[in-house]
Amino acid sequence: MSALQQIIRRAVVAPCLAAGAFVATPPQAPARLQIASAAGASRTDVPSVSTIGELRRRDLRVPVDGAHVNAMRGQFGDTREGGARGHEAVDIPAPRNTPIHAVENGTIEKLFLSRPGGITIYQFDPERRFAYYYAHLERYAAGLQEHQAIRKGDVIGYVGTTGNAPNDAPHLHFAIFELTPEKQWWKGSPVDPWLAFTR
Ligand SMILES: [Zn+2]
Repeated sequence: MSALQQIIRRAVVAPCLAAGAFVATPPQAPARLQIASAAGASRTDVPSVSTIGELRRRDLRVPVDGAHVNAMRGQFGDTREGGARGHEAVDIPAPRNTPIHAVENGTIEKLFLSRPGGITIYQFDPERRFAYYYAHLERYAAGLQEHQAIRKGDVIGYVGTTGNAPNDAPHLHFAIFELTPEKQWWKGSPVDPWLAFTR
């Protein structure tokens, strides 16, 4: 990584609190803890090969054109709040108003405004196994609605700095989580997007 990349990464990543549903919006106890206890595993478990394999099989589209997949490496494990919790996502720097494309077919499950994530989208895949989370949007694509069917590559929003993103470092905070049997948009096991995008 070049010095410039490191500076950009620090600017983008360091202040960006995890914007995921796991922290921002749980109507009940944190989902991950429930999952962890149910599975008898810790939150830092490496996802199963079948989970990553399944995501790779879907050939997810990188949501921002020109994004550097290699730069996503390691971001998932970055910590926030002095190590209190993990980032569990990747940050993709891009100029404000850069189009954000759906990574896969599916439906818009929830359009949500949260303090850390700002303007966000929760997309489910067609089988409702995974949720894709897009945060810090400048705005949604015109006419975007909950429960709308979308195709891989559709523009669903635009890069911005809403929520806790630094005003001078617009980026897309992107996360993937595997849903529980209840299929609730705020609940699931996070998966490293970098693993899904690398083949
Ligand atoms: Zn982030």
